[in-house]
Parts: sequence; structure tokens; C-alpha cells
Amino acid sequence: MAIPLFDIKEQHRRLENDLTAAFVRVLQSGQYILGPELEAFERETAAHLQVAHALGVSSGTDALLLALMALDIGPGDEVIVPAFTFFATAGCVRRLGAVPVFADICPSSYNLDPEDFKKRITPRTKAVIPVHLFGQSAEMDAILSIAREAGIAVIEDTAQSFGARYKGRFLGGLGDFGAFSFFPTKNLGTLGDAGLLTTNNDALAEKARILRVHGMNPKYHHPMIGGNFRMDALQAALLRVKLPHLEGYNQARQRNAAYYTKHLARLPGVRVASLPHNGHSCEDIADERTQILLPVALPDNDCIWNQYTIRVIGEGRRDALKTFLTEKGIGSEIYYPVPLHKQSCFSDIVPHALQLPESERISRECLSLPIFPELTESQLANVVAAIAAFLEESAKPR
Ligand SMILES: *Cc1c(COP(=O)(O)O)cnc(C)c1O
Repeated sequence: MAIPLFDIKEQHRRLENDLTAAFVRVLQSGQYILGPELEAFERETAAHLQVAHALGVSSGTDALLLALMALDIGPGDEVIVPAFTFFATAGCVRRLGAVPVFADICPSSYNLDPEDFKKRITPRTKAVIPVHLFGQSAEMDAILSIAREAGIAVIEDTAQSFGARYKGRFLGGLGDFGAFSFFPTKNLGTLGDAGLLTTNNDALAEKARILRVHGMNPKYHHPMIGGNFRMDALQAALLRVKLPHLEGYNQARQRNAAYYTKHLARLPGVRVASLPHNGHSCEDIADERTQILLPVALPDNDCIWNQYTIRVIGEGRRDALKTFLTEKGIGSEIYYPVPLHKQSCFSDIVPHALQLPESERISRECLSLPIFPELTESQLANVVAAIAAFLEESAKPR
């Protein structure tokens, strides 16, 4: 049985009538960019996420860029970002001429280490971008209080965490801005590119709204320089069909994650990663017998499992498991193989001696398994059986 890492076709097949009706509605409306369909979507997402303002934009990347532009971030400024994340988090900072300053992560959550973030604040620091990676909240209480004390803005990279909560509150509404993506592989994915920018700050929302259309206000008058960050009416209409189903999708992912954790944790050499102590310790619990560490959902945090990312311990072992799974027809992916401070495009701005040991280690150990909502129990069982076979094979004396 071939099991892909991700397959959206079944999800969309079940919604085919509604998606088709939405398409026809937009087709016949004659309005294809912004407009009433997007405004309705913005109202619905703002209500869902319990934020004051939600702006539909062209992508998650552009949501981040727009947030940085609305905060006037540019040359001479520094923005602190975790080194272990998707490229866009840091790429947007650099595109504006500012410098992304890389901080390390906590290996149990894969998210920004608040203590390391604090150490990297300088008089030039304007903002921090905590990423809620793989569907799990960064440690927002600690991050927000450090940022508040330092007087710097907080942009939540919520691309992978639409609908996830931290202490009961939806992610994306905790900092100054939340940047979401509707790329097809995200928990709320559309049939193309789209994103969302959220904020509870009226003035920032108004500025971002103007920047979204080339800094134009009123028509053909440009008090600022923005860009084309507009969202298509079609994507809004399609996402309006999917939004009411999101909670069900997220619950299915949580069930799948619970299945993996329950069944994988029984295998010899497999352990669940330990929770950080005092909210922000980065203790590592792997001992010499540990071969695989399973991801853990931190307390106070409603993880929605955009990825189920295990750590495979030992030189070359992660790649060996990936190859083994591929041979069995099981998809997996390395999110992410190169930490951002090691990307060649940043070599001119990263201090030569910079070491971020957790980000570097996790990049070597991480492997994401299929977790999408429509997986069946027998598919999940097959993934577990394949990993059991891998461990058994490698336990044999050679
Ligand atoms: C997907 C993603 C983005 C970018 O979103 P796009 O819609 O693809 O531009 C940014 N940050 C993270 C962490 C992501 O996963």
C-alpha cells in the first residue's frame, strides 16, 4: 500500500459540489480580485480566530512581508528569527534590507528558545518572529514578556498553525501581527497561493490595508510604497467552503498523532521527547539506547499537527529510515535539512563563528511522517509497522 506524505485529493473530492458551486459563483460575479467574496472571508476568519482584523493577501510570505513593511522595518534594523523554520520567515526580513538575526530552538518543541532570543536583542532589534512550527505554539508568554520589556514588535509566523491555540487563545492574535498561509499543504489549504494577515491594532491594520494595494490611498495617490499583495476572490470563495471543516481536519490530525505516539512509543528504542522544564528549558533526554524521539505537544497548547516530525538519532540514521520508508512506498520529508544561518544567501550577514547547536542537530535528525486528516487507520498501522521493521533490521547483528 503506497502512503503519500500528503494527499489533498480525497479532502477535495468530499467537498467537490460545494467547491464547484463556489467557483461558479465567482465565475459569474465578474469580480476576481478583492471584493465582496474576500470581505466575507475576512469577516469569517476574523471571527474564527477571534481577532479584530484579518486581511486576505497573496501568500503567507507576503503576509510576513506586509507585517514587516507596516512596522517600517528596513536597512539598519534587526529582526530575530529562529534558525529552524521555512526560509520565508527570514527571507522577508532580508528582502527589506534588514538583518535576520538567527536564534536557536528548543529541541522538544522545535520552536524559538526564549532565552536564546533574549540574548540576541541589541539596540537595533525592531521585531521578533516566533514561528509556530508544525502546528504547535511557540512559548508565547515568555516571548511576549521579553519583547514587551525590550520594546520590540512580535510577528507570529502562524503559517502552519491556523486554528491552533495557546492557553485557550488562537495563535495569530497574541502578537502585533499574525501571518498565515493557505498553501495547499497547510491545515487550511486552498487551490493555489493565498495568505492572511491578522492584527488587533486598528492603526496597523489600516496601514497594512493600504500597503496591500501599492500604498495607495486614495485611488492613484501613494503616501507610501507598498506592493501587490492582493488575494483572489476565487481563493477566498474556495476557502469559505473549507473553513467550517477545519476543526474536523485538525481533530483528525490530532487523532493520527495520538495513534503514532501510542503505537510507536511501544517499540524498543523509541521514546517521547520530554517536556521542557520551567517553561523554557531545552533539556535533551536521548540516551545511548534512544533511536527515535517522538514529538510532544506542550501543555497549555492545542497543537494541530501540521507535521508529525520525529527525530532519528545517530549518524546517517535519519536518511537510512527515509530510504527504508521510500522503498516501502511510504512518503516522508525532511523539514528542514539546512538551518537558515547555514544558507549561502545569508553568508554575508551571519557571524562566521555562529553556532546554533539545536537547530543544526535537529536539521540532521528530523523526519516528518504522513499525518494528513484522511489517512486511514490501516495506513497509520502500516507506517508504524515499517518503522518497527526498520528498528528490528538495524538491531540484527551484522
Ligand atoms: C508555508 C510557510 C510560509 C510561507 O507561506 P506561503 O504561503 O507558501 O508563502 C512561511 N512560514 C512558514 C513557517 C511556512 O510554513
